[in-house]
Amino acid sequence: MTQIAIAGAGIAGLAAAIHLTRLGIQVAVFEHVSDPTPVGAGLLLQPSGQAMLAELGLLDTIQAKASRVDSLEGYSGNWKALNLHYQRVNPEWYGLGIHRASLHHTLWQCAIELGVPIHLGQGVSAFEQDEQGVCFTVNDVRLPLHRVDNHRADALIIANGTRSHLRDQLPIPQSHRPYPWGAFWAVLDKDDWPYPHILMQRYRGAQVMLGVLPSGINPRTGKQCYSLFWSLPKSAFGEYKTQGIQGLIQRIAPIWPEVAQWLSDARDTQIAIAEYADVRLQSYHHQRVLVMGDAAHAMSPQLGQGANMALIDASVLAKLWSINAANSEAVLETFAQFSQRRRRQIAYYQMASKFMTPLYQSNYPIAWLRDIGTSIGNRIPPVYRQYLLTLCGAKQGIFDLNARIDDL
Ligand SMILES: Cc1cc2nc3c(=O)[nH]c(=O)nc-3n(C[C@H](O)[C@H](O)[C@H](O)COP(=O)(O)OP(=O)(O)OC[C@H]3O[C@@H](n4cnc5c(N)ncnc54)[C@H](O)[C@@H]3O)c2cc1C
Repeated sequence: MTQIAIAGAGIAGLAAAIHLTRLGIQVAVFEHVSDPTPVGAGLLLQPSGQAMLAELGLLDTIQAKASRVDSLEGYSGNWKALNLHYQRVNPEWYGLGIHRASLHHTLWQCAIELGVPIHLGQGVSAFEQDEQGVCFTVNDVRLPLHRVDNHRADALIIANGTRSHLRDQLPIPQSHRPYPWGAFWAVLDKDDWPYPHILMQRYRGAQVMLGVLPSGINPRTGKQCYSLFWSLPKSAFGEYKTQGIQGLIQRIAPIWPEVAQWLSDARDTQIAIAEYADVRLQSYHHQRVLVMGDAAHAMSPQLGQGANMALIDASVLAKLWSINAANSEAVLETFAQFSQRRRRQIAYYQMASKFMTPLYQSNYPIAWLRDIGTSIGNRIPPVYRQYLLTLCGAKQGIFDLNARIDDL
C-alpha cells in the first residue's frame, strides 16, 4: 500500500489526508504544533471552496457553523465603492463566513474518524528523496532536547503554510515576498449587528480599511461572531501594540463609530496581527515531493481565496490519484499532473490579488482607480460578472469568461 506523509495539519494537509485515506492510501500527518487550539479569525468560503467541502461530505456541517454572506459592500465616505452580490452571477451562490477554527475542527474530526494518524508536536525539518521514496526528519518538540527521528514514505506532501522552510529545500525556482501591509484583527460576539449577511468594509483612500465579516458560531463562546479587520502598514505594528486596544478604538471611531463602541463594550478582546506574503513556485512538485496550500501559493487575503485554493488543491490531487492509482508510477504521474493542472488557476488568482492589494492597502494615492473601476464594473453586466466569477473562485484565467466550478 502506498504511504504518504503530510507535513502540516492545516486546511490543505487535513483535506488532502481525508481524500487520500478514502482512496486507500496510508497517510500519516505530522503537525509541528502540539495543541491544535481554536486559533485564527474568520474566513470567507467561496462557492468554489464550498463545492470542495461538498466533495468531502462536510458542507452541511460547515454550513451549520457558518454565516451566509450574500454580498460584499464597501464605502469610501458615502460613496459605495464595492457592491458585489453573489446571486447576480448564480441565484444559488453565496459566501460562507466561518471562524478558521470551526473549519479546521471539522476537517480534523473527519480525519480522526477515518483513523488518520496525526502526530502532534512533530515538525518535519528536512527530507531527502531517492528513486523509491522520501526520507524525512521529524523533531518531536514535546520531548526534552527535541528528539529527532527519521521516517520514510513513498512520497511527502509539504502543506506547512506560508513560512515553509521545507519548500526552500526543493530545487525549484521560488520566491517568498512579504507584503508591507498586514492587519490587526479581533473576533467579537454580537447577536444584533445590522449586517449579519454582508461583508461590510469602510475605506479612506487606500490607507484605511476596516472590515467586518460575519463569521458564524464562535467556537470559544458558542455565540454568533464577527471578525473585524483593520488594515495597517507593518511599520505601524509596534506603535499600535504600544497603544493597545484604546489606541485602536480611537482610530476606528471617526471611520465607524458603531464598531468603536462595540470594541469598547467587548471584554477581554484579543487583538492579533495578520501578516501575509506572496509565495510563487515554478512547479508544485519535484519527483516524490509535492507542495500545496499556502506553502505553494500564499497570497494576500484581499480576494478571500487562500483556504478555498487549499481545498481545491486537495480535491485535484485526489481526482488525479484516482485516475493514476493502478499505475506503478502513480506518485510521480499524479504529482507531475498536479503541477500542470493547478498552474493556470493559481497564476490567475496570484495576479489578481497582487494587482488588487495596493488599491486597498497602500500609501499610494490610487484609491480613486479602485472606486472608478468598481463603479464602472457595477454598471456593465459582463464586467460585473467577471468580478463575481473571480470572487467566487471559479475562474481559471483572465479569458475563462464562462468559468464553471465543475471544471476546477
Ligand atoms: C488575515 C487573513 C484573512 C484571510 N481570509 C481568508 C478568506 O477570507 N478566505 C480564504 O479562503 N482564505 C483566507 N485567508 C487565507 C487562509 O487562512 C489560508 O490560505 C489557509 O489557512 C491556508 O491553509 P494551509 O493548510 O495551506 O496553511 P496553514 O493553515 O497555515 O497550515 C499549516 C500547518 O502546518 C503546520 N506546520 C508548520 N511548519 C510545520 C512543520 N515543519 N512540520 C509540520 N507541520 C508544520 C502549522 O502549524 C499549521 O498547522 C486569510 C488569511 C489571513 C492571514
